[in-house]
Amino acid sequence: MTDGGRRLVYLDHAATTPTRPEVARAMLPYFSERFGNPSSLYALAREAKEAVEEARGRVAAAIGAAPEEVFFTSGGTEADNWAIKGVAAANRKKGDHIVTSSIEHHAVLHPCRALEKQGYRVTYLPVDEFGRVEPASVEEAITDKTILVSVMAANNEIGTVQPVAAISRIARDHGVPFHTDAVQAIGAFPVDVNSMGADLLAISAHKFGGPKGTGALYIRRKTRIGTFMDGGAQERGRRAGTENVPGIVGMGRAIELAVGEMPQNAPRLAAMRDRLIRGILDAVPDTRLNGHPTERLANNVNVAFRYVEGESILLMLDALGIAASTGSACTSASLEPSHVLTACGLPPEHAHGSLRLTLGHRNTEEDVDYVLEVLPGIIGRLREISPLTPER
Ligand code: PLP
Repeated sequence: MTDGGRRLVYLDHAATTPTRPEVARAMLPYFSERFGNPSSLYALAREAKEAVEEARGRVAAAIGAAPEEVFFTSGGTEADNWAIKGVAAANRKKGDHIVTSSIEHHAVLHPCRALEKQGYRVTYLPVDEFGRVEPASVEEAITDKTILVSVMAANNEIGTVQPVAAISRIARDHGVPFHTDAVQAIGAFPVDVNSMGADLLAISAHKFGGPKGTGALYIRRKTRIGTFMDGGAQERGRRAGTENVPGIVGMGRAIELAVGEMPQNAPRLAAMRDRLIRGILDAVPDTRLNGHPTERLANNVNVAFRYVEGESILLMLDALGIAASTGSACTSASLEPSHVLTACGLPPEHAHGSLRLTLGHRNTEEDVDYVLEVLPGIIGRLREISPLTPER
């Protein structure tokens, strides 16, 4: 890829992905000649309505759901907020306790904190050194006041894949609904609401080649959940607001492509991931892999270099046309060490030197070669000037 003639190696697909040209082409008519409001009553509107329903069918098929269980939202953050606050509001009389993990995205953690301020109680489950939730800890945390268990399918920072089927079985045995944030999982491994045992599941189009600002919440039939956006009767009266028709059309096309290409794409990315991990660990001493060695997203590399700052690595990589991340895109603007790495037991001085590289379907073996060529030198130079580096 080039950026105005400059080499660009984009390795931040967990933050966002480029909208695929096929997806952008599918969206275009819905900005212009097919601009109708799906709620209106004439042919132009019906055309938009049909496009929304066709996309709903595509999203449902991709996750093993029925179309009427898919509700479009403004993205993953809204889907997570709706799942958590909506279930909390609808079950207030039944209970006031939520179980989640300490390494969720802020789109889950912050709604939980907001609910704590309203008197709800939240258990934040610990994770092991690889970022995995132990299903037995869910069993121990559930009480007769528990109204929701929410554990993400895969972590956006370290790529660890959670044992959601085992966790959801425990929730179901206790009659507690199970929500999973599957934002990072679509296209990486099969996401099926039934085999995962999900009653609620959040997705976001811009993580799999679709547009930003579009997502969906899967709600299993008969799940007790309140509305989150009040207003018009869109989305069968459960999520008000004129539909983002181009975005929804784009998400439908993108999920079909991402899931359809997964059998070829995921192993290709996993091979590049493993070459990057091996190459970095072999070339740079005092470096560790963050996240699980095998139960991890096909596209995720996360390593911690001792004695250096992640921000400095990013600046030097950027100067060479490599876009990467330290921690999640949302937390990299703050000086706090990543809550995910800290929860895995990494001391702050290690967490500060973390680098996340997340591959996407346009990346090539040459991109991997380039990173392996320049990264060891960057870390070496930074360690030379770091006051933290021990004398050898
Ligand atoms: N959940 C996870 C795991 C994510 O990685 C993200 C995005 O970074 C979100 C939720 C939020 O999704 P969106 O950007 O669509 O609001």
